[in-house]
Amino acid sequence: MARVLNFNPGPAALPISALERAQQELLDFQGTGMSVMEHSHRGKDFEAVHNEAIASIRELLSIPDDYHVLFLQGGASQQFAMVPMNLLPPGRSADYILTGAWGKKAYEEAKNVGTVRVAATTEENKTYVRVPAQGELKLDPEAAYVHFTSNETIHGVQFDQFPDTGKVPLVCDMSSDFMWRKFDVRRFALIYAGAQKNIGPSGITVVIVRKDLVEGARKDIPKIFRYGVHAENNSLYNTPPTFGIYMIRNVMTWIKESGGLSQIEAWNREKARLVYDCLDELSGFYRAPVQKQSRSVMNIVFRLPTEDLEAKLIADAKKAGMVGLKGHRSVGGIRISSYNAMSVDGIKQLVGFMKDFAKANG
Ligand code: PMP
Repeated sequence: MARVLNFNPGPAALPISALERAQQELLDFQGTGMSVMEHSHRGKDFEAVHNEAIASIRELLSIPDDYHVLFLQGGASQQFAMVPMNLLPPGRSADYILTGAWGKKAYEEAKNVGTVRVAATTEENKTYVRVPAQGELKLDPEAAYVHFTSNETIHGVQFDQFPDTGKVPLVCDMSSDFMWRKFDVRRFALIYAGAQKNIGPSGITVVIVRKDLVEGARKDIPKIFRYGVHAENNSLYNTPPTFGIYMIRNVMTWIKESGGLSQIEAWNREKARLVYDCLDELSGFYRAPVQKQSRSVMNIVFRLPTEDLEAKLIADAKKAGMVGLKGHRSVGGIRISSYNAMSVDGIKQLVGFMKDFAKANG
């Protein structure tokens, strides 16, 4: 079996044990004579999987009882619209902190729904290389909520400390750094994350939302977009992507069997340290644009002296069995996506390759 080292930004690498379990159970799920995909979403066999996936997320993140955990569709992009549709009533305004392309997209979409303000942006010279300091935030104390993106997947900019918004509800797009470590859910009113980076396949967005916010949300929007409708139905208002939920269950089992989120965090920190140390040592060849305190643990971006060399690195890496290193088409360069399922050993192989590449081409 020839598995490549997969550095794709999402959909991304999944833990081998989660895939193998799916393979073993594919034709006959737990003696039922059919695949989990063929089960009714309302039957007891699928219901057990669904509830186990939710319970595991709750357990791993110690999510308090006054929060719902929902599995929704439409990607994180749908949340760009659902957040203001539910939480931004007429006559109110919401604040957005922009640290990259995704936050900007969320802001632009919210404009289609209601009144929004930019509380801070770090866009300088058409790019983003840092998160703002707390003191730079121009927060509206009356805002309906403050939205930010904890990790910008394209620009490789990540918040280490979450912004402090006082009493104003904090909403976070955690798509590309959800569950890379444990964090205090209580800091947030709502968190959303597309599954396809750290916790499963594409097609599912996890939403963690405080119950009182859902109760106070707007009811004059289509039912399918109301958090309350999905919460009342345990995310089974309509047919969910059952196989994706099953895969999330398998990935959560892998996290638990690996030692939980403290072990996952230790691996992620070690992987990021190995790559950034290499970039810093060879800074005459590799150029990492993001300021040190805002460097992403998940998506590591850098440039080479020329675009030709970048293309060569991608091609040579592919020959060596490493794929997915091309930067996003909007920014170019190289991007290493190092999500939970990428092993420390995989990163060591990549760093060895990068050192050899610099020696041969520098
Ligand atoms: N937010 C972030 C931080 C992302 O990385 C992405 C996808 N790469 C999105 C939102 C959009 O997600 P989706 O394609 O699932 O709508």
